[in-house]
Amino acid sequence: MRGSGVQARCHNGAMSAAPLHARTLAIIGGGPAGLMAAETARAAGLSVDLYEAKGSVGRKFLIAGKGGMNLTHSETRPGFDARYRERAGEVGAWLDDFDAEALRAWAAGLGVETFVGSSGRVFPTDLKAAPLLRGWVRRLKEQGVRFHVQHRWTGWADDGALRFDTPDGALHIEPDATVLALGGASWPQLGSDGAWQPWLAARGVEVAPLKPANCGFDIAFSAHMAKHAGAPLKPVVAHWRDAQGNAHAQQGECVLTETGIEGSVIYAIAPDLREAIERDGSARLELDLAPGRDLDRLMTELSRPRKGRSIGDHLRRAAGIEGPKAALVFEVTDAAARNDPAQLAAAIHRLPLTLQRARPVAETISSAGGVRLEALDAVLMLAGLPGTFCAGEMLDWEAPTGGYLLTACFASGRRAAKGATAWLQGL
Ligand SMILES: Cc1cc2nc3c(=O)[nH]c(=O)nc-3n(C[C@H](O)[C@H](O)[C@H](O)COP(=O)(O)OP(=O)(O)OC[C@H]3O[C@@H](n4cnc5c(N)ncnc54)[C@H](O)[C@@H]3O)c2cc1C
Repeated sequence: MRGSGVQARCHNGAMSAAPLHARTLAIIGGGPAGLMAAETARAAGLSVDLYEAKGSVGRKFLIAGKGGMNLTHSETRPGFDARYRERAGEVGAWLDDFDAEALRAWAAGLGVETFVGSSGRVFPTDLKAAPLLRGWVRRLKEQGVRFHVQHRWTGWADDGALRFDTPDGALHIEPDATVLALGGASWPQLGSDGAWQPWLAARGVEVAPLKPANCGFDIAFSAHMAKHAGAPLKPVVAHWRDAQGNAHAQQGECVLTETGIEGSVIYAIAPDLREAIERDGSARLELDLAPGRDLDRLMTELSRPRKGRSIGDHLRRAAGIEGPKAALVFEVTDAAARNDPAQLAAAIHRLPLTLQRARPVAETISSAGGVRLEALDAVLMLAGLPGTFCAGEMLDWEAPTGGYLLTACFASGRRAAKGATAWLQGL
């Protein structure tokens, strides 16, 4: 069966004079990026069909709301942009049009007020994603966006048509323009499985392999560390080096896991750790378990006579190190080091950990890699596939948790839809 996409493009590549409402835009992927693209394109007057592989849209958005929907962040620009690391320039251009403030105003337009938490993160007042998503989808339907769930895009047919698997069989459509908003590769059970990578690569699109981002790391701990899985380490200061050898330090929290370590400070520095593992086979992370405690003072306190107390008791009394922090000290040091106040203080101050590998992308919060931004023009159209635009996490940028992920997904969805509109207008 062939869909009813309106053929607005003339054979010579010039646009026919069909009005915008007769131009069909197919959006594939019903996550935040695709939904925002649908809203923007519909507002511009395009005829919009949104295709989603799953039985409902926004499944990852809903999961993101489980621990408190962190919509965006109150950090001001250009600091905000810098969270996108080497892509700060490109993502910053998307944010020029739709930044954190605009996102909060947009949510308010859906009746969802937001507040800034103590960490600077921005949440809906009820912390939930479901009311926002429900209201948004309802409004999109009222605005005329047509939803096609259980429509799994499977690439392009030989004649260039978009091919879908649907409950009613195969469907081929030829829209006037397409926005791909297929997500990355984390939590594939929610729909974004990265299956699109070879299809785009086969069309000459440069795709950087999808990799774990905002991820935990494996450490070869001994078996008795397993009982501390889930235990928080806070506060700690993480010390690490970037690819250029520059030393960095960041205070935050992390959590011991069954296989190693994760948590917000680890997520924030994960790109450097991941790159070190790729380059060197492992990454060195040092944790200051007693932030703010001067090394000399720590040593002096640890030098006080133990008076028959165990090392564990001594660590707790002299340095405030107990529970999972003490377990880590015992894991990493040998008996001789633990009995030497200078070595023990040094270990507490900079506990060395060897990270062996990042956790698999399927279980991480987001993925890095994707369609290289160099393969796209400024309005996110694929240079090699005129009329096909990309948005969201499937693009090659990454950011830490804190609302930066969703903000860039929304902003890029908007930009791609505006690009598609302008392209269809023949501008
Ligand atoms: C547990 C968890 C918590 C998170 N918390 C936060 C948070 O608090 N704040 C934050 O900013 N970010 C958070 N994120 C990240 C955020 O949810 C994602 O970055 C965001 O959802 C990506 O949006 P997207 O539209 O690009 O892709 P997705 O949301 O992944 O949507 C892509 C859609 O495309 C569909 N699709 C894929 N392939 C096909 C196909 N072949 N055919 C048709 N449809 C297809 C998928 O089914 C999916 O619905 C969290 C992520 C996870 C996993």
